[in-house]
Amino acid sequence: MSILVVMEQRAGAWNRMSFETLAAARHFARELDTTASAAVLGHSIGPLAAELAPKHLEKVYAVEHALLQDYTPDAYTIALRQLLEVAQPSIVLFPQTYQVRDFLPKLAASLGKMAVSDAISHRVEDGQLVLVRQLFQGKVNVDSRFAGDAPHFASLQAGAYAPDQLAAPAPEGAVHPSLVEKFVPRISPADIRTRPLEPFRESQHLVDLGAAEIIVSVGRGIKDAGNIPLIEKLTQALGAELGASRPIVDAGWLPNERQVGSSGQTVAPKMYMAIGISGAIQHLVGMKASRTIVAINRDPDAPIFEVADYGIAGDLFQVVPALVEALQKSK
Ligand SMILES: Cc1cc2nc3c(=O)[nH]c(=O)nc-3n(C[C@H](O)[C@H](O)[C@H](O)COP(=O)(O)OP(=O)(O)OC[C@H]3O[C@@H](n4cnc5c(N)ncnc54)[C@H](O)[C@@H]3O)c2cc1C
Repeated sequence: MSILVVMEQRAGAWNRMSFETLAAARHFARELDTTASAAVLGHSIGPLAAELAPKHLEKVYAVEHALLQDYTPDAYTIALRQLLEVAQPSIVLFPQTYQVRDFLPKLAASLGKMAVSDAISHRVEDGQLVLVRQLFQGKVNVDSRFAGDAPHFASLQAGAYAPDQLAAPAPEGAVHPSLVEKFVPRISPADIRTRPLEPFRESQHLVDLGAAEIIVSVGRGIKDAGNIPLIEKLTQALGAELGASRPIVDAGWLPNERQVGSSGQTVAPKMYMAIGISGAIQHLVGMKASRTIVAINRDPDAPIFEVADYGIAGDLFQVVPALVEALQKSK
């Protein structure tokens, strides 16, 4: 048994979720008493692949071809199928990015396999990996076990594993530094039938919530866009960035770049305040690594309180003005 992580890069820049998946792979490898390797696809990809050399992996495959310069589902599927024949991994892990959503079902189906998508956690039972996924918007957790012959495919949800677990010691028997190996797949221009356009970007001035030390996020409890200035007063008093749960962004009350969660940004500030946010798993995965979490919610049973270090069970329309007043007085 062995594990292969397919890392994602675009124009030579890593997708940060790849490092979460890499950390998870090393975790799985340790618990399954096996080794983890990584692959990265692209053109002139050697220097980027070499960055993985110190990551305590058994091998790093630099999958190199001019037709992998820009992502296409056809070239990626062809290249990975050929790599899998050589590397022979038991489990192939991917970060659940938009790109992976695009080609992983195609890759798995081309081999007559299924892919377990969007796993949020795992455990090892009788030497077998059990991946946990969520159904019905996080209301039900299901266990997924692989059956049949390898390779088995899975993708991991953003924020489900912390990338800093890479700092943990190398698993027993792992080679260090990792061996970087060039792999040149056979791809011809006629194989490529579709080419994605440039990814759509809503805003030219993205807010980097990842760099903020304090984030105050607002959820559906705010009731109306006209009430958001109340939360902005609190962000000003705290010197915080404003974040939001997805319904606030979906309603167009705040821009996309402020969304925290599995389909927004993953953040880990010194303090994260969740105001009128219930604590759905898709929100939690984006902020649960924050050092201190404060929640304000009028429902004392709201799931957000399970991850909160400090909780105020109360009406935000009373609590927030009182907090703003207290903060202003203390200055
Ligand atoms: C594929 C997918 C991806 C998703 N990605 C994300 C994502 O990236 N980020 C994200 O946030 N969600 C995401 N979601 C949505 C997620 O499942 C939840 O629906 C969402 O997080 C709920 O937002 P909320 O907590 O603001 O709203 P609700 O769940 O409606 O919660 C509102 C909360 O406000 C409280 N409240 C109401 N009035 C008051 C008051 N006066 N004072 C205090 N508290 C009050 C309520 O008690 C309640 O707990 C995703 C869902 C899917 C299926």
